[in-house]
Amino acid sequence: MGQDSIYKQRGVKDLILDEAKNYQETVEIFLKTAELYNFKLIETPIFEKEILFKRPLGDDSDIVTKEMYTFEDKGGDKITLRPEGTAPVVRSVIENRLYEKLPLKLCYFGPMFRYERPQKGRYRQFHQFGAEIFSEKSPFQDVEGILMAHDFIKSLSINPESFKLHINSLGNEDDRKRYTSLLKQYFSDYFDELSEISRLRFHKNPLRILDSKEPEDIKLIENVPSILDTMCQESKDYFAAVISMLEQNGINYEIDKCLVRGLDYYTETIFEFKSTELGSQSTFLAGGRYDNLVKLLGGPELSGFGWAAGYERVALISKIEGKKNKLIAVISDSAKDAFNAAKFLREEGFCAEVFIGESFKNLLKKSLKISPDFAVFIGENERKTNTVQLKNLTTKEQIETKLEEIKNNT
Ligand code: ATP
Ligand code: MG
Repeated sequence: MGQDSIYKQRGVKDLILDEAKNYQETVEIFLKTAELYNFKLIETPIFEKEILFKRPLGDDSDIVTKEMYTFEDKGGDKITLRPEGTAPVVRSVIENRLYEKLPLKLCYFGPMFRYERPQKGRYRQFHQFGAEIFSEKSPFQDVEGILMAHDFIKSLSINPESFKLHINSLGNEDDRKRYTSLLKQYFSDYFDELSEISRLRFHKNPLRILDSKEPEDIKLIENVPSILDTMCQESKDYFAAVISMLEQNGINYEIDKCLVRGLDYYTETIFEFKSTELGSQSTFLAGGRYDNLVKLLGGPELSGFGWAAGYERVALISKIEGKKNKLIAVISDSAKDAFNAAKFLREEGFCAEVFIGESFKNLLKKSLKISPDFAVFIGENERKTNTVQLKNLTTKEQIETKLEEIKNNT
């Protein structure tokens, strides 16, 4: 397409027809699950000040270094289209003093924006479902958060054989610092064998080397020391408590010592749900605990636990079959009768569309374009006898009945 084309930008897509319906149903399932866990919905603006994301996510994170949609608005403010939901939720919690009543459980859904190379399961505008719990720091809340994620996944009819919880801990901030220098020591012996990107990360944020998918790094990563062995006793106990409760709840998990998240704000428990049906973009839901984010953004000392799932990846593996109301084409030579019948049928829970005109044969043909389940005909005879002709468009059977009886005949 040329410069002047009005067609969409790279990496975005129109949610249309079945896909739009599927999104709507996923939203409903998400909200239902969240409600059962007593989460309240929050909707933050799609754009925020750039500084809200810059510091918390980390100057070395992929999002901040290359993925943010940032621009100057007409007033000269630096604005960023939100790349993730946690920082805006935390901002709102602080700004509206929502932390005065704990535990506070908030959920959100909506579009996020990241300037990435578009590929399967990776877009520049995508949708996330997310949940955040603010409370006294406790492994019970980590487990609640993970159980809620698991229930959401189950409700989406994702094949239970195809996904697994991968979990790890980063310990507290000191543990993380200590482990980072340990990693630096470890990788310094192999510096020349590291990939180019990992050599950069070695200086800026060695933890992120563990995230590398480069073949030359993978064999080195296999033998790294585990943070689970080096972190303080308190963090060890915390993690053990989370794991044991997950077991009690029958959650299938794998401890992954190389799991680190791309964002700087995580501490203690981190996790990802991965699918074997998604190829290289295998993580479809991810999150963890953040002890310092609220404080960092100017709020009180308050720990949080949260996760986010990407809709576009979930849509590739979920097998939800939405409830569909039966669709009835109401065909009549009288607008009055057609509208009346449609009104009645809609009140009964049917989906109805009117086709008004003289030739029922033509109208029926026209109506087939919208694939109705049934057609209802109201003509001169039916008007006289206060009946309708009801045609089942699957079996082609036609009967005479009354509007009030349609429910029993469909
Ligand atoms: P990745 O390693 O795939 O880049 P990430 O660590 O950047 O993921 P998070 O920030 O944890 O992802 O976001 C949570 C979820 O949001 C991801 O697991 C994924 O399902 C989804 N997601 C993230 N980025 C994109 C994107 N560009 N397009 C579609 N979905 C995305
Ligand atoms: Mg990413």
